[in-house]
Order: sequence, then C-alpha cells, then structure tokens
Amino acid sequence: MHARKLIIVGSGPAGLTAAIYAARADLAPLVIAGGQYGGQLMLTTEVENYPGFPEGILGPELMEKFRAQALRFGAEIRDEDVTKVDFKSRPLRLWVHEEEFAAQAVVVATGASAKWLGVDGEARLRGRGVSSCATCDGAFFKEKNIVVVGGGDSAVEEAVFLTRFGRTVTIVHRRDSLRASKVMQQRATTHPKISFVWNSVITEIEGDKLVTGVKLKDLTAGTVSRRTADAVFVAIGHDPNTSVFAGQLELDSAGFVISKDGTRSNVEGVFVAGDVQDKRYRQAITAAGLGCRAAMDAEKYLEALERTPVTAL
Ligand code: NAP
Repeated sequence: MHARKLIIVGSGPAGLTAAIYAARADLAPLVIAGGQYGGQLMLTTEVENYPGFPEGILGPELMEKFRAQALRFGAEIRDEDVTKVDFKSRPLRLWVHEEEFAAQAVVVATGASAKWLGVDGEARLRGRGVSSCATCDGAFFKEKNIVVVGGGDSAVEEAVFLTRFGRTVTIVHRRDSLRASKVMQQRATTHPKISFVWNSVITEIEGDKLVTGVKLKDLTAGTVSRRTADAVFVAIGHDPNTSVFAGQLELDSAGFVISKDGTRSNVEGVFVAGDVQDKRYRQAITAAGLGCRAAMDAEKYLEALERTPVTAL
C-alpha cells in the first residue's frame, strides 16, 4: 500500500492547481491524474479568457504549463484512473485496479465529461462523423457540411472553430435563442458560414460507415425533415465524473458532489474542487481558484490532524 498525506484525484485546472499549492506547502501530493489527463481543456482550441494570456493560449498548451508547474514543486503525477475508493475508513483508501493507496486527505477534482444525445446512430457513428471535440476531429471535415448541436458557449465556440474547415456549419438548437454569452452569439450570428435551425432536435443520425445526414424534428410544428450532413458535433453540456464516488460522497440528483463552503464534501478530510461540484460557473479560472482553496483547506486540515492526540482520533 502507498501511503500519502494528500492524494489529488483529477488533473484539470482544479486538480493541478491543488497540486501546485499542496506541493509548495511540502505535502508531496500524489496526483492520480486519470487515463486522459488534463481535463476538458485538452479538448479545447483557443482559450481567450484565462488571465495572463492576452493573446489567448491553446487549451492543451495551458494544461501542459499547469502540469509542468506542479511537477516543478515536487508533485507526483500518475496518468491512471482511480477505480475504487473507501472514504469510510481511516486513513482514506483509494485503488487503481489492484494497487492500493492510503491518504490522510483527498482532493476530488475529477471534472465532468461531454453529454451525448442518446439518439439512433450516435454511438454507432462516433469517430465516423459523430464527435464531441471540434479540436480533435474538425480537420477531418474540410469542405464538408457540419452540424453542431447545442445553444451554449461550447456549441457556438465549436461552430466558429469548425468554420475553418467546413463548407457550411449549421447550429441545431432546441429553443429559439442561444444560451451562449453575447460576444459568442455575435460571432456566430454574423459569421457567413454559420446558419441556424431553431426549435429543433436531432432524432436520428444517419449513415452506414460514415455520417450522411440527420433527421430533425421541429418542436414547434411537430414536423420531421432530413438534412444532409457529413459530421455532427454534439455540444450540449457535461455530466460530472463521479461514478467512482457513488455511495461514498454525497451527490446531487445530477451526480455533482455537494460541497459545503465551496471545498468540503460530507466526508471529513475529503475536499472537492472544480466542475465536479460546480454547475454554475464551470470555467478554468474558477476551477483553478477552487483547486487552490481545496489545497489550502486540506493543508489546514492536515495540520489540525497532526496536532490531535492519537487517542482522540
Ligand atoms: P451549457 O451552457 O449547459 O449549454 C448546453 C446547451 O445544450 C444548451 O443550449 C442546452 O439547451 C443544450 N442542450 C442540453 N441538453 C440537450 C439535449 N439533450 N438536446 C439538445 N440540446 C441540449 O453547456 P456548455 O455550452 O458546454 O457550457 C458550459 C459552461 O462552460 C458555461 O458556463 C459556459 O459559459 C462555459 N464555456 C465557456 C467558454 C468560453 O468562455 N470560451 C467556452 C465553452 C464553455 P437549452 O439552452 O435549451 O438549455
């Protein structure tokens, strides 16, 4: 069994900021980063709103910088997934398959993952024209007709990015107005390659080996139509990555960790940071801020634990 003072689970802006602060506080944190380290920014193009980068920075490049900074101060990072936890025991216990870890404190920063529509054809054609990552897959669709689903910042950002490649980009949204921020809305509505299909949902993604089209239902008229498409990018939000914590941490109905004072879970010694508990802001900067707070709170908790006589534990 590997014993640590602090284990951080997750390696997006929240987890790696927690790692930087904990490493600088001499806690020698172990970061169990996840098989696909770096979080959602690894699937993003330009990040224009992270302070300190006036020209913008690519998401993966920003996460490389977070990681290098955590390593510089002595954090250990393992690119594996936690497969089981026992937060009822003391010390807290975590597993990566058969390998067992013990920690006096844990920061949970496992983030959230893209949601899918769940319609016919979507799962079968994933990687064959269906994607949730324009950065990863956009370049495959040069001069093609691309559909983007959703009305939030992600959908609009993906649509604008995809105009670099596609002949046309059509945003399909279930309502008649976008949820995206005003500046993003303006970019999309004024872009010559972007058009909108309002009040509509995709009911099926068609194609044999590759995507060839979508079936659309107009929610106002109740009519169904078909549209030719070579790619469908789904950008309808995210689900928290908390399945491994079910029954161990208090979760809300959508699966987000319920936190007290921003960083405390219902289990003493288990702190929480980033999108795994934040349904409202979900920004890299707010995740990083919460990672900092979680590490500082964990540090205080560990200090208090050291002062507590063993008999009182
Ligand atoms: P979001 O804001 O939750 O938007 C999700 C969109 O998908 C909504 O328009 C929603 O429709 C639609 N939707 C949800 N489920 C659907 C379904 N089953 N079928 C069809 N449509 C569905 O998610 P997001 O766009 O990923 O953004 C998340 C957060 O990250 C936001 O706070 C956003 O500001 C932030 N963000 C910021 C940037 C940036 O600043 N550059 C970039 C990306 C994201 P309704 O509108 O009807 O609910």
